[in-house]
Amino acid sequence: MSRHRFFVEPGALSRSTICLRGDLAHRLGHVLRLAPGDLIYLLDGSGCEVTAEVTELQPSLVLARPLGTSFPETEPHTAVTLCPALLPTERFEWVLEKGTELGVSRFLPLVAERNTALPSRDKRANERKRERWQAIVRAAAEQSHRTRLPVVEAPVTLAAALESAATPVIMAWESSTESVARALAPLGGSTDSVTLIVGPEGGFTDQEAAMAERRGVSLVSLGPRVLRAETAAIALATLVLYACGDLESAAPASPR
Ligand code: SAH
Repeated sequence: MSRHRFFVEPGALSRSTICLRGDLAHRLGHVLRLAPGDLIYLLDGSGCEVTAEVTELQPSLVLARPLGTSFPETEPHTAVTLCPALLPTERFEWVLEKGTELGVSRFLPLVAERNTALPSRDKRANERKRERWQAIVRAAAEQSHRTRLPVVEAPVTLAAALESAATPVIMAWESSTESVARALAPLGGSTDSVTLIVGPEGGFTDQEAAMAERRGVSLVSLGPRVLRAETAAIALATLVLYACGDLESAAPASPR
């Protein structure tokens, strides 16, 4: 059974008695039906993991005693910002979940010219959607033993994303003849951060591709087949994380 791992608010782990409230308290007591003596593994997003023993369960408060702290090496060395164009709900949420498992550090949803999925006109609805996205990322981060919680930003236009992107920026474009490997070669196989951009179901316009190229973006092909946007997003993230050495075991290879 996957260990009971939960992200908690920063600062919650610094006390001699850990107090867990709200949804997490409800989840521990009523959903997982934990009992005093059970062990839980708490993450405050700083990279450390605290092993704690449940000592008391009340309806909306669970107390736990910290037993020890570890620093699992499960975070990637490269901070990947993945900018997937907004997609229909299930497909976009699938990108968030799989991107989190793979090691994406930040999601910046895009609204490109040919987007069919668009933010709502209702700000509250957009905020509720972003909260749902963050909950999906949190659950995926807990399941995949991440120690830092990826951030999901509010959607922006392609131009705004290009404006704010930390270089290098790599954009998946079906009409490109450039390979991901060639785009990454100048980095020597590792970089601190990289921004990845993937288009909507209708693809990028030539104007959008030209705008990106003018800003020094590497436009890359993911092969001769036309991938669904969600497939392209995960394929590009996987290729780049692999090329940066972030899809390898953290343990040193045992001598043969
Ligand atoms: N224009 C395509 C659909 C776009 S696919 C069509 O006419 O059906 C959605 C996005 O996935 C694209 O904007 C691009 O970012 C990416 N993508 C899909 N297949 C790709 C490929 N073979 N190479 C590079 N990017 C690809």
